[in-house]
Amino acid sequence: MVNFTNLRKRMIKDLRNRDITDKKVLNSMSKVPRENFILKEFKSHAYDDSALPLLEDQTISQPYTVAFMLQVLELKQGLDVLEVGTGSGYNAALISEIVKPGKVFTFEINKKVYDFGKSNLKNYKNVKVIHGNGSKGVKNRKFDRIIITAACHEIPKNLIKQLRDPGVLVLPVGYPVQTMVKIIKKKGKIETENWGSFVFVPLR
Ligand code: SAH
Repeated sequence: MVNFTNLRKRMIKDLRNRDITDKKVLNSMSKVPRENFILKEFKSHAYDDSALPLLEDQTISQPYTVAFMLQVLELKQGLDVLEVGTGSGYNAALISEIVKPGKVFTFEINKKVYDFGKSNLKNYKNVKVIHGNGSKGVKNRKFDRIIITAACHEIPKNLIKQLRDPGVLVLPVGYPVQTMVKIIKKKGKIETENWGSFVFVPLR
């Protein structure tokens, strides 16, 4: 039997030894059992620092990339968050732990992946899983934080409109390698920062 608790502790230690310093991110990753978001056949690899296959040729990002994005996103208790690309639901579960009682809206475009993510997230009461195209956003709602977990050709303008002021949007932009882009809305202005190179499955 694999001891997931020990593997999870080791993952946290490895993340700390790199550049993950945000305590809220580390605490949430210590709490959420990543093995519950992984397909049966890959569960024993749940804590490897690698991307793992999901259904329908999609992938769940490696723990370091997940932690890095959440750190750049500057999450806090009480914030409302929009995620585009539910996938396994692991990232949404991590966000949910940090922001509750804030709300998480997460969109998944692929029906089979949506069913998988939704069932993995059933115990996370502040998460709403929606089947559909997330780059259009949610009508009549704004968010403090937005995260896109699939590679974008360009920055979706609709989603900048969905950001509150102040607000932060984090997304991977470009092909075949993506730059992690952080967009900050503050006092009516938009600032853009680049946070290094990553590889994601494409946004549709
Ligand atoms: N955050 C996920 C990993 C996401 S992989 C996790 O924690 O496991 C990227 C996902 O984005 C894929 O499942 C893909 O189907 C989905 N996707 C791609 N384009 C999308 C869009 N426009 N709207 C919603 N989901 C999208």
